[in-house]
Amino acid sequence: MTTMQAAVVKEFGKDLIIEAVPVPTPGAGQALVKLITSGVCHTDLHAIEGDWPVKPTPPFIPGHEGVGDVVAIGEGVTEIKVGDRVGNAWLWSACGTCQYCRTGWETLCEAQINGGYSVDGSFGEYMIVDAKFAVPLPKDADPVDIAPILCAGVTVYKGLKMTEAIAGQWVVISGIGGLGHIAVQYAKAMGFRVVAVDVADDKLALATKHGAEIVINALNENPVEVIQAKTGGAHGVLVTAVHPAAFGQAIGMTRRGGTIVFNGLPAGDFPAPIFDIVLKGLTIRGSIVGTRQDMEEALAFYNRGEIHPTVSSRTLGEVNTVLDEMRHGKIDGRVVIQY
Ligand code: NAD
Ligand code: ZN
Ligand code: ZN
Repeated sequence: MTTMQAAVVKEFGKDLIIEAVPVPTPGAGQALVKLITSGVCHTDLHAIEGDWPVKPTPPFIPGHEGVGDVVAIGEGVTEIKVGDRVGNAWLWSACGTCQYCRTGWETLCEAQINGGYSVDGSFGEYMIVDAKFAVPLPKDADPVDIAPILCAGVTVYKGLKMTEAIAGQWVVISGIGGLGHIAVQYAKAMGFRVVAVDVADDKLALATKHGAEIVINALNENPVEVIQAKTGGAHGVLVTAVHPAAFGQAIGMTRRGGTIVFNGLPAGDFPAPIFDIVLKGLTIRGSIVGTRQDMEEALAFYNRGEIHPTVSSRTLGEVNTVLDEMRHGKIDGRVVIQY
């Protein structure tokens, strides 16, 4: 039996165990991918902590921003071949036949399988992908640089579309972490004017570097007051923060008729003032990753040179340190594991 090194969650809230596990065999419609890199998303941390109502079942291997090359294919695979560069994604597969899949909402499929959650992901030297949902990637792209597009990129691109803002309008990006610093760049590329909000000055410096016009540290200033005074209220707000407080604040940041999109998924609730929502005619919606079509569009922005993730690369052996840094908000941009 051939084995590979992987980082395995054995128990929620505990360090991942790095150990030798069997290299999986691709089943029908699947491919085996030898990984080159994998981004580390805050969703991996939620998975490891068991933060959400629907939990994965340990032992499992997290990771849904994996980039690698196909080394074997299972029966009946026609979409990809050995040697192709592909990625995995949170939307590892969907049924293809339900009402959601049929209407362009495969991200809402109730039978979907999630990478690094309900099926093993990319925190190991090899992973399995569903050939119909593997993300085709260009071979000339830097595998460290492109990894964050597979979740952070597609998620914020779709989230920004869901704000229904148009070029020239104000958009707030609340939370300038792995998702948020890329959201600033998509927002700029989509023609929006950007306000960035975070609770750490180094994150705001990153937002300025990537094109934010106004930056606000929510610990030092009241973001609602500053945004209303400087912009008249934002047309769209995208919340990628990992603290529930940012979700309630978004309501006050918005202009009348504006749309708030939630990407962040911290455990918890927030108070929502009914009067403001009704009188201001606000729309509040959640947005979960993106479809394969959204992924293709998000990658096209990257391939045209419009998106430059701030990345640092680490080894699989450092994964527990990286997760600890993420818990404490100490990561600039995205960390990408390099195999
Ligand atoms: P990250 O840890 O890289 O970044 C989180 C950022 O939030 C940090 O910059 C932190 O300083 C900031 N923050 C914390 N408290 C804040 C506050 N009160 N106001 C403003 N900013 C605050 O995390 P990430 O990888 O960018 O993921 C962010 C969230 O998005 C996570 O909850 C993750 O699970 C979720 N996520 C959702 C989707 C989706 O499809 N909806 C996809 C990927 C990730
Ligand atoms: Zn993710
Ligand atoms: Zn479906």
